[in-house]
Amino acid sequence: MNWNKLADDVLAGRAVTREDALVVLNAPDDELLAVLDAAFRVRRKYFGRKVNLHLIRNAKSGNCSEDCAYCSQSSVSTAPIERYVMQSADELFAGAQEAARAGAVKYCMVTAGRGPSPRVMDTVCLAAERITKELKVRLCVSLGTLTDEQAQRLKAAGVKRYNHNLESSRRFFPEICTTHTWDERVATVRRARAAGLEACCGGLLGMGETLEDRVDLALTLRELEVEAMPVNLFNPRAGTPLAGRKVMTPAEGLKALAMFRLVNPRAEVRAAGGREAVLGAMQPLALYPANSIFTQGYLTTLGQGSNRDVEMLTQAGFEVGQVEG
Ligand code: SF4
Repeated sequence: MNWNKLADDVLAGRAVTREDALVVLNAPDDELLAVLDAAFRVRRKYFGRKVNLHLIRNAKSGNCSEDCAYCSQSSVSTAPIERYVMQSADELFAGAQEAARAGAVKYCMVTAGRGPSPRVMDTVCLAAERITKELKVRLCVSLGTLTDEQAQRLKAAGVKRYNHNLESSRRFFPEICTTHTWDERVATVRRARAAGLEACCGGLLGMGETLEDRVDLALTLRELEVEAMPVNLFNPRAGTPLAGRKVMTPAEGLKALAMFRLVNPRAEVRAAGGREAVLGAMQPLALYPANSIFTQGYLTTLGQGSNRDVEMLTQAGFEVGQVEG
């Protein structure tokens, strides 16, 4: 593959084909830096050297009715995680204050569960109204499956973006979840967009899916025109059905991030969960394809902390993105 030409084509507006996306994932490790450079040229055009920091808040942890095999909060997980009921609007507001102090552009409130109960909706909307009024941080929420009315209510409360990951391809999804379908997830993403919310929708790579599945996910996200895509790299959790799965190599993870960038040039691509665990010492290289990261950890696992994240990205020559407007 002529990586420079691939980047030229993307910059000229030519959509990457399924075949080319597969070539990216199959690139020899010796060509890793050339692949990352191609992705970086595209990233630089649309996002410069800015890295958006996102802070995620697990507002209601564990005891989910669903059986997602990778998730330590699922009905089939015995993972030793903290389980708690819905936090109060005050606690969620305090989390937003912390996010603003950490320099995050987005604060994402997440609840475990198939979809939000009336109480969860009331609490999230109350917190969202106050955060929007008082703090300079953009709001994202992730509450599972939504109805049209719920999506509209979140929008009216000041929420900017809705997260609902597809996790994998339509083909592979039934192997990791049987209590709901991939199509239901797509329907929620469409509902959120129809209500005027931006869509944050990505996946979790390394659960046993093929490289073709990863490409199919990237192509679906392009078709759905999602604004942001968290690319999680699987870090198996003890007590879940996928415990013991082999972790992908850093090079494999970086090539996947590059592929998502090249297929979705204008989308916010996030080096999400598993960044520290899977990429290890190579994690600064993720900033060449990706323009955003989670800081201060994930839903049930810790990260390296926002100070180290900021130090890492500035030492690599990147800058922290700011809330616009
Ligand atoms: S629906 Fe969400 S919280 Fe529940 S098991 Fe699946 S991924 Fe985990």
